[in-house]
Amino acid sequence: MAEGTRFSQLSEVVTQLKNENTEMKEAQTRQQTLLEELVKQMKERRDRGLCYYCDDKWALGHRCRTPNLFLLEGLEAETEEDIFEDVSEEPAMREEQNTDQE
Ligand SMILES: [Zn+2]
Repeated sequence: MAEGTRFSQLSEVVTQLKNENTEMKEAQTRQQTLLEELVKQMKERRDRGLCYYCDDKWALGHRCRTPNLFLLEGLEAETEEDIFEDVSEEPAMREEQNTDQE
C-alpha cells in the first residue's frame, strides 16, 4: 500500500516534469519561429532597400524614427546577437553601393 502510494506520487511528479519540459520546448519553438520570421522579414527589407528597424527606405545617414524596435519581448540578448550575425554581410554591401554613388 505505502509503496504504491509513493509510486503514484512519484509518477505525478514525473508527469509534472514532463509537462514543464513540453511547455519549455513549445516556448523554445515559438521563439525559434519568431526568430525565423524576423530574419525573413529583415532579408525582405534588405532586398527592397528598406531599413531593418523602421519602414523608411535606408539611405546614408538614415536615422530610425523608432529605434530599438528589435528589442521584442521574449527575445534574450544572446538571441539578438545571433540575428545580427546572420545578416552581418549587410553593412559592407551598403557601403559599396554608397561609394558607387559618389
Ligand atoms: Zn530606420
